[in-house]
Amino acid sequence: MSRLWACPLVVGVLLSSCADAAPVSDILFVGGEVIDGSGSAAVRQDIAIADQRVTFLGDASASGVRARDTVDVSGLVVTPGFVDMHSHAELDEDYGRGSEAFLYQGITTVLLGLDGGGGNNVADRLGRWASDGIGTNGLLFVGHNAARRAVIGMEDRGPSPEELDGMRAWVRAGMEEGAQGLSSGLFYLPGTYAETEEVIALNRVAAEYAGAIYDTHDRDLGASYPPFGYLASIAEGIRIGEEAGTKVIFSHFNPQGAANYGRAPEGAALIEEARARGVDVRAAQHVYTATQSNLRSYTVPGWAAAGGDTAMIRRFDHPDTVTEIDRQTREMLAIRGGADRLLFADPRPELNGRTLGAVAAEWGVSGPTAARRILRDGNAAVMNLGLYDTENTRYLAQKEWMMTCTDGRNPGPGQNVTHPRVFGAFTKKLKDFVIDDPVVSLPFAVRSMSGLAADFLGWTDRGYIREGYWADITVLDMDTVEDMATYEEPQQFSRGTVHVLVNGTFAVRDRVATGALAGEPLVRGGAVFD
Ligand SMILES: [Zn+2]
Repeated sequence: MSRLWACPLVVGVLLSSCADAAPVSDILFVGGEVIDGSGSAAVRQDIAIADQRVTFLGDASASGVRARDTVDVSGLVVTPGFVDMHSHAELDEDYGRGSEAFLYQGITTVLLGLDGGGGNNVADRLGRWASDGIGTNGLLFVGHNAARRAVIGMEDRGPSPEELDGMRAWVRAGMEEGAQGLSSGLFYLPGTYAETEEVIALNRVAAEYAGAIYDTHDRDLGASYPPFGYLASIAEGIRIGEEAGTKVIFSHFNPQGAANYGRAPEGAALIEEARARGVDVRAAQHVYTATQSNLRSYTVPGWAAAGGDTAMIRRFDHPDTVTEIDRQTREMLAIRGGADRLLFADPRPELNGRTLGAVAAEWGVSGPTAARRILRDGNAAVMNLGLYDTENTRYLAQKEWMMTCTDGRNPGPGQNVTHPRVFGAFTKKLKDFVIDDPVVSLPFAVRSMSGLAADFLGWTDRGYIREGYWADITVLDMDTVEDMATYEEPQQFSRGTVHVLVNGTFAVRDRVATGALAGEPLVRGGAVFD
């Protein structure tokens, strides 16, 4: 608040009428238990908001703070709006722009462009978000896979010096326009064809920009084929950030596959060793046991997909190559728990909500044969049930460097079954890990969803509840907080988010989304894009 008002302090008798003349805030939350995002315990405080920011914290009535819109939040918990550190919210699409599935989890900012996929047309996208309106704030990464695809296509080879320069220029263009950093998906095509040195070279470009982050989807979280190694993969991610000079975040961090149940402490130890030598390495998690990705990545070895879909289908059709592909697909499915563990989230009605095993049985063919038949018509969105172990997840949730993510993508038209994390990742962490079978305290969980992310992202006026900060605020009823989404019926909004403010505007009020598109496009460092 910059406006001054005449307040004749010398005349004590006029003080009450002076309070009446004080600027009136836009919103006043009264009586809430405020958890500020730092990990500190709740404090009962009133919060005033004006001009999209928190302008007052304390006892409103004692301080004469008033507002046009006073909301009683006694008995409720008031937290910073949550930050989804690894998201696929479809802010560019009509069906995803409003982000209601995310808002109902208390999420007010999503990070996109991950798994190596982010384009370098950053300013274009941010500008479109600003003009069309978005439900949450959004930030973008540029992607290594996208850079590689743009410069050398889907070839299984290293870049020439000229091509490496081309990729560097491609990354630089996105960083210049405000990207948060570089993401990689070394598990995915065509990123998987890259040597570590290539990613370091591109990450060095990102490192020229203060606060840049390297977001890694590892080469092998434990279920890759052929195996690179769960621990080797973590070491590679750390090395890329450490040599290039960026911070590192391991996305949806959790060892995969039954062979790695119980092995979270080994991976965490590598991260903690790096942190001890001064590398800012962190991670983000959701607490489901299923992943979601695509059928090709889960069932076709990288060599068989090299050169793009036409080349891949040619190998499916050739008797020599298809025999070897079939053998390797069987091994890949075994690592993932079998064809019955792959549950389609694809919009195609003959696939959606069914497992690869069920589809194969109906067609009277093997799992690998069914997978190849499906892939002839294009890649398919699919979950892998039971790939994560809850004991691993619970161990990792206690780490002071563990943030939170949905890894969720809004379902498109016809996509009835999708991963429930889109609708419930944050609320499930609260319900399962704080309320039902506590493994962390509420302030610790809230920090993993807000202040910890804000620190990592280099924000100075967002991500905590503090005077002067943007009013991204979530108000929770801890008695009713619950993720409602299931694998069978995923499209159910979370409960218990009573109010959500995005930049000082109600996006959820009295447990109902308002439809407001109050999000802002953000650039690296947290400033609003303009
Ligand atoms: Zn990923």
